[in-house]
Amino acid sequence: LVVSLGIFALFLCVSLPYLVRHIDGRYANFTIQLHVVCAAMIVTLYFFSSYQHRLRLVQVQADQLARLSNTDELTRLPNRRHMASLLEAELARFANGGRGFAVMLFDIDHFKLVNDRFGHGTGDATLVALATRATEVFLGTGALGRWGGDEFMALVSDIGPVDAKRVADALCAQVAATPLPGGRSITISCGVAVANVDDNIDNLLQRADAALYAAKRAGRDRAEGCPELKAG
Ligand code: GH3
Ligand code: MG
Repeated sequence: LVVSLGIFALFLCVSLPYLVRHIDGRYANFTIQLHVVCAAMIVTLYFFSSYQHRLRLVQVQADQLARLSNTDELTRLPNRRHMASLLEAELARFANGGRGFAVMLFDIDHFKLVNDRFGHGTGDATLVALATRATEVFLGTGALGRWGGDEFMALVSDIGPVDAKRVADALCAQVAATPLPGGRSITISCGVAVANVDDNIDNLLQRADAALYAAKRAGRDRAEGCPELKAG
């Protein structure tokens, strides 16, 4: 647009003196028409470029909104909505011949006590610290998100029952062994379910949830597999 305006200004500088001197001349009409066409083209160019600019802004805003609606505000991990859509996608891939995967649901033990004793701010910092630690554990192996409250979900791709249980055991042990900033320690309980080809999101989650509940009942600070996983 700037280049076009420059050329047009140059054009005007050259032709205007001619037009003033020969307004009734042979080429005056043609020169005026040329100016009008050039000006119209520049205006069109301006509208196209400003439309394109606005379109780009809208696209950036839409991307930001999509990111916000898929992200947990506190931990910056994918939120429940995002994890549910990733889980649906993994199940569809698996049903179409893709690789198997495991769902791990883990939950902080007695987290209410952290809030009650040290305040909600410390509770929040605990959730963020656990998110950071779990991100390191699951880096490059699948997806990790906050499922809600003090409960997190990991989807681990291409893994069998034995390795899934081993990863979950290692996560529990690592969380228990590494003190949080401030010197306190927490423990987590984890439920593991390995996807079957005919699973839907509800029954897979039900198994992971049942396994998490079993881990809580068995004394916390441990991982439990769903019954099928134990049989395998
Ligand atoms: P359990 O071992 O059975 O899991 O016991 P619990 O005390 O952890 O029980 P539960 O998992 O039901 O408690 C979840 C608590 O997490 C209750 C709620 O006050 C707290 N919570 C949920 N979301 C947040 C949050 O964003 N920040 C903080 N600080 N606390 C939260
Ligand atoms: Mg809890």
